[in-house]
Amino acid sequence: MREFIHGDQLRGHTAVVLGAGSSGIAAARLLVRLGATVRLLERSESVAASVPADQGFEVRGGQHRPEDFQGATLVVLSPGIPRTKVAPLLPEGAQVVSELELASWFVSEPIVAVTGTNGKTTTTTLIGRILEQNGRSVFVGGNIGTPLSDYVMGGDRADVLVLEVSSFQLQNSPSFHPHVAVLLNFSANHLDYHETMEEYLDAKLSMFGHMDARDLAVAPLSMKDELEGRSFTKANRVYFVASRRFDCPGLPGEHNRENMAAAYLACRHLGLREDDVRHGIEGFASLPHRLEAVAEHRDVTFVDDSKSTTIDSMIAALKSQDRPVRLLAGGVFKGGDLGAVLPHIRERVRGIYLFGKSREIFEKAWSGCGLEIHWDPTLEEAVFRAASESRPGECVLLSPATASFDLFANYKERGKAFQRAVREWVEGTA
Ligand code: ADP
Repeated sequence: MREFIHGDQLRGHTAVVLGAGSSGIAAARLLVRLGATVRLLERSESVAASVPADQGFEVRGGQHRPEDFQGATLVVLSPGIPRTKVAPLLPEGAQVVSELELASWFVSEPIVAVTGTNGKTTTTTLIGRILEQNGRSVFVGGNIGTPLSDYVMGGDRADVLVLEVSSFQLQNSPSFHPHVAVLLNFSANHLDYHETMEEYLDAKLSMFGHMDARDLAVAPLSMKDELEGRSFTKANRVYFVASRRFDCPGLPGEHNRENMAAAYLACRHLGLREDDVRHGIEGFASLPHRLEAVAEHRDVTFVDDSKSTTIDSMIAALKSQDRPVRLLAGGVFKGGDLGAVLPHIRERVRGIYLFGKSREIFEKAWSGCGLEIHWDPTLEEAVFRAASESRPGECVLLSPATASFDLFANYKERGKAFQRAVREWVEGTA
């Protein structure tokens, strides 16, 4: 309830925010608005130095020390900072929350929250678009785009908030209560951060535990037994499978049929009919770097799926192609069973072109696939190699199943580098 922000709720309190990313800065600003004395801590001195000054909070760069937390009653953790790391530094009784939890205390509008290992951004954006096309005013944000704290501080009010939420945020959101919560899927990911799969699933499920009988939980049918066995929520439950109801060229592949099915069920709970949802899906363009068709040259298509950072998203990408594939993969491998890709490689892949890190991991897992496995130090070289070996009717697909940090700042830079290399190839061979 934003009316509740009257600027003094936290007067006399000291709040510490960890991490100067966009959500950390938004949380710090919100806490200032609430009257708290606020310290923003950031490990990286250079990032700390880049935080705009004069926002009413103190910024401290470098290693966290116990005195940085002195007097803190509220601590806001940014995604990626494990609670266990800071626990020894915290004053007794300090409440530790995510930025999502903090901001949600000031929201009374209905919330649709989307989580899962893959497809969050696509499905969140899609639900937002469907609702908008049907005349609802919508705020789309959270883990993507604008942090919820910024919405809370802003002047405009939306009918519905559609939020992408990550397990990092959910783990520190003890009361976050969406009206519709969507779990898209669940697979090995972030194992370097979450100690076990169990902990990771618990994090994703925690928000479902805060919901009641007026709410709706949307989850994959394949997880029904596991979820019901855990009595994971008091909300109504609906389970989805890939939907044949809707068709959208911007949402190719079976996995997007799942995303559309989940979006439909969420929107139905908000009063939309099937035709309304169809109208909302129509014309949805694929999001950048998610199975984005970027060029066609001599009957070879080039597809940028740089956002594919997991094995499941690589499999989804391969299954979405009806053409034989020249597959570009490689980067910082995040764990999981690469052997699961082998049947799809045998079925659809004509050539494998690795680049950057994790070469040995891929080569070992795929050594029996019957194809030669090429490797180049850079993505550009791998693109040229794949393109020069490709034949008419094929597809050159970047779906790396890895994080990009070995060669790039993020997946967007990796995708842009792919697109540049493709342009260069097309111009050079036109
Ligand atoms: P997230 O926000 O969860 O990372 P995105 O929508 O950005 O999800 O998509 C990330 C990657 O996962 C892309 O490669 C996309 O093609 C793929 N993807 C999207 N939806 C699914 C799904 N339901 N199952 C598997 N992979 C998916």
